[in-house]
Amino acid sequence: MAKLVKKAAELGFCPGVARAVETTMRAARSTPVFTLGRLVHNDVVVSELEAMGIAVIHSLDDARGLVAISAHGVPAQVYHQLQHRGLKFIDTTCPIVRKAQQVASQLASEGYFVVVYGDPGHAEVKGLLDRAGPKSKAGLSVSSIFRGRLPKRLAILSQTTRLSHEVQAFVGELLTSLEKFQDIRIAVTLCSHVARRAREAASLASSTDLVVVVGDPQSSNSNRLVEWCNQFGYARLVSSANMIDGEWQELRVAQTVGVTSGTSSPNWLIDEVIDAIERLD
Ligand code: SF4
Repeated sequence: MAKLVKKAAELGFCPGVARAVETTMRAARSTPVFTLGRLVHNDVVVSELEAMGIAVIHSLDDARGLVAISAHGVPAQVYHQLQHRGLKFIDTTCPIVRKAQQVASQLASEGYFVVVYGDPGHAEVKGLLDRAGPKSKAGLSVSSIFRGRLPKRLAILSQTTRLSHEVQAFVGELLTSLEKFQDIRIAVTLCSHVARRAREAASLASSTDLVVVVGDPQSSNSNRLVEWCNQFGYARLVSSANMIDGEWQELRVAQTVGVTSGTSSPNWLIDEVIDAIERLD
């Protein structure tokens, strides 16, 4: 019997990634473009861009044309380096990330010690810490950020793609030491597109036999979406239609399959996965 596929209303590239990819592709039609780091956390998209002559570089030393800054943004010093080297660039920093950078900078200027809930190795978080200056730290647990005394004035913000319940748990843990602070500010810098996907994914996981999350194994928001769905049902990450086959027992017996995606999965890839699911007996 054919499976009933329930597709999430919001999936595919998020607006920030769509804007970054479209802007970069448009520029590449008339000039060589080099992306500073991977433009998106998705191998198939990076390969597509490479096929158009858009190369990934990890140092401005390797730039031989227009430099594209990704949706995650960069530390402020990168703009100085670009200017110093006389390199032209396109800045595809997502407006939501840019707003978070402004918040980090504002809170630091008001004298707060700024804590960013997020992965310290992620490009966006590095950009936020850069805006917050020396009195700032990032991490995914209170113990990884504070080992000794707590600052008196603390501001908390988060990487835009974290999920609301994760931030709430982190803030909740910090608030158990409430009496040690004089002043605490919590700035909500979460991306509403990610939050909507998470809400919809939870509802899909509760109402289907299995949720397929289309995303790259390196995409942290895709992996977290899988973890989140697994709290309500059963979900798995699928990076291409090749992973859809009759050997996958849970998929073979599922009658209803929910499909959602990470923010860096293109629509054509999702459509291929859905076609493959619908072709299964
Ligand atoms: S996930 Fe949200 S914040 Fe990140 S690039 Fe997409 S729209 Fe922007």
